Amino acid sequence: MIISVASGKGGTGKTTVATNLARSIGSGVQLLDCDVEEPNAHLFINPLFEGSETVYTPVPEVDEEKCTYCGKCAEICQFKAIAVLNENMLVFEELCHSCGGCWEICPEGAIQEGGRELGIIEKGYSNGIEFIHGRLRVGEAMSPPLIKKVRSYQNPEKLTIIDAPPGTSCPVIASMKDSDFVLLVTEPTPFGLHDLKLAVGATRILDIPCGLVINRSDLGDRKTKEYANQMNLPILMEIPFNREIAEAYSRGEMLVDAMPEWKEKFLELYDKIKHLVKKEIP
Ligand code: SF4
Ligand code: SF4
Repeated sequence: MIISVASGKGGTGKTTVATNLARSIGSGVQLLDCDVEEPNAHLFINPLFEGSETVYTPVPEVDEEKCTYCGKCAEICQFKAIAVLNENMLVFEELCHSCGGCWEICPEGAIQEGGRELGIIEKGYSNGIEFIHGRLRVGEAMSPPLIKKVRSYQNPEKLTIIDAPPGTSCPVIASMKDSDFVLLVTEPTPFGLHDLKLAVGATRILDIPCGLVINRSDLGDRKTKEYANQMNLPILMEIPFNREIAEAYSRGEMLVDAMPEWKEKFLELYDKIKHLVKKEIP
């Protein structure tokens, strides 16, 4: 089973939920931190990293000895990443989406696949949890290919928990796609509700069942609960605003380590998700 933990808005406690859920279940769990622009789950999980791998994406490399400057490659590129100017070839690597159109269409075979560094993948273990995350190279704009690489380590024999990036754009879709369940972490504020609505819209388009965790549930207003009711969204867990929780977080401690009574609540959350996923499978 693949559970993605997402949130429309940053700072809602998504990583807290993903890491504590993984730690509570323990062995047989994989935690993939797909928030490659700002990975922070490792700060709580503290894995012992066993290896890292640099990830590249293919970009064109033009051999001007063979090129006839016909312009077919520039015509097919939808991202303006390649241009022919007065018998000069210009490649804007950062704009390239690695679709391969240019090297497929080149009649002279003048374009080879080069590589642009996207970032690195690191893998490790912590208390029986297999942990994998990606770190996007500083200055790199395209995170979905690195996210796909992190997801390529999914092991169908294990429960996979994905810590998705915040928002509802391409990186989030790449992280949530093909999940069995999306756990949306939100907070009961007008901003939280606004972004929650967008996130729910994304899960509906992807046709993935979802449920809510409301963080700092005793602050703010009742509008999030009213919306959940209206949209038939199950509220699976509520985490109240609590000084002890905030202090543990700021020290980089796991909630279930600082307050062990929460382990049972995260296991209950997992049971509720399993139940909801089973209902979805005819
Ligand atoms: S398609 Fe090939 S030959 Fe034509 S301009 Fe591009 S690289 Fe040169
Ligand atoms: S691989 Fe695709 S996106 Fe990149 S330059 Fe070629 S046509 Fe453009």
